[in-house]
Amino acid sequence: MISDNIKTRLLDGAVVAARIKQEVQNEVEQMVQTHGYRPCLAAVRVGDDPASAVYVRNKIKACEEVGIRSEHHALPESTATAELLGLIDTLNERDDVDGILTQLPLPRAIDETKIIEAIVPAKDVDGFHPVNVGKLALGRPGFVPCTPAGIIELLDSNSIDVHGTYACVVGRSQIVGRPMAQLLLQRDATVTICHSRTRDLAAVTRQADLLVVAIGRAGMIGRAHIKPGAVVIDVGMNKVSEPAEVRALFGEAADKRMEVVNKRGYTLVGDVNPAEALEVAGMLTPVPGGVGLLTVAMLMKNTLKAAKLRHDSIRN
Ligand code: NAP
Repeated sequence: MISDNIKTRLLDGAVVAARIKQEVQNEVEQMVQTHGYRPCLAAVRVGDDPASAVYVRNKIKACEEVGIRSEHHALPESTATAELLGLIDTLNERDDVDGILTQLPLPRAIDETKIIEAIVPAKDVDGFHPVNVGKLALGRPGFVPCTPAGIIELLDSNSIDVHGTYACVVGRSQIVGRPMAQLLLQRDATVTICHSRTRDLAAVTRQADLLVVAIGRAGMIGRAHIKPGAVVIDVGMNKVSEPAEVRALFGEAADKRMEVVNKRGYTLVGDVNPAEALEVAGMLTPVPGGVGLLTVAMLMKNTLKAAKLRHDSIRN
C-alpha cells in the first residue's frame, strides 16, 4: 500500500525554459553589439504533417523571442531525397546559417538517415549526427539532443543531484532515451535502459530513484512502476479524449481536463498516469508544462552555441 504522506512536488518546466531563453537572448544581444553578428537557425520541413507544422512554428516563434534569425524552408511532400540533400548542402555552405534542423519524421520516401548525416556536425543543433552521437557516448563536448539536455537543466535548476543514484530510462530512441541515459551516466548515476522487450518492466522501474519515461503510450506508467518518493520525468506527449480514459488518468483533475477536451477535442497526457503518480512520486513533471517547453529552449541554446563556435572560426 502506498504511504499517505507523500506530497508530490511538480517540477515546473516553464520557469526553467523562460530562464534559459532569457539567458540566450542576453547573449545574442551581446554578440550583436560586440561582433555585429546575429545567429541564424534554418528549419526545414517536408510535407503537410500538421504536428510538424506546429512544432516548426513554435521553434520559429522562440527564435523571434530570443532574437535569433530564422528561416523556414517548407518543401512539398513530393520532395526527393536528392533535392533535400541539395538544400542541406546549400545551408551547410552558407556562412550566415549557424544551425540546421530537419523536422522529423520526414515523408517515407525520403532517406532520413542520409539527411541527418548530410548536416555538418558543427550546424547539427538537434545533435542527431553520428559525430555528435559519438561525442556524447565518449563524454566529449558536442551537440546534445534538446529534450534530454533540457531534462538535465530541469534537474540542475531544482538541485536534484543524480550522482550515485539509481536512474531508469524507459525508451531507447535516438532522440530521447539513449542520449538521456548517456547524460545521466556522465552525471555518475547508475543507469538502466528499458524498452518494449524488457521483462517485468514495473519490477525494474520501481527500483529507480530517478525514472525518465519516453515511450509514447498514454499514462502507461502507474503507481506499480514508481518507487515511493522517486523523481519522475514524463517526456511523453499523447492526446486523449475519451471521458473514461480522462477520468482514469486525471482523477480529481478530470473535470478540468474534460473542459479542455470539450474546447479542443483532446487533452494532453504524458506516458505517466498523473493521478497514480501523484500518490507515490516525490517529484513529477506535469504534462503539459514540464519537459516539452524545455526542448525548444534548448534548441535556442544549441543554436547560440553553434554561432559562438562558428563565429570564432569565422573571425580567425
Ligand atoms: P519512439 O522513438 O517511438 O521510442 C519509444 C521507445 O519506447 C522505444 O524505445 C520503445 O521500445 C519503447 N516502448 C514502447 N512501448 C513500450 C512498452 N510497452 N514498454 C516499454 N518500452 C516501450 O519515441 P520517442 O521519440 O522517444 O518519444 C517518446 C515520447 O516522448 C512520445 O510520446 C513523444 O511524443 C514524446 N516526446 C516529447 C518530446 C518533448 O519535447 N516533450 C520530445 C520528444 C518526444 P523499442 O525500442 O523496443 O521499440
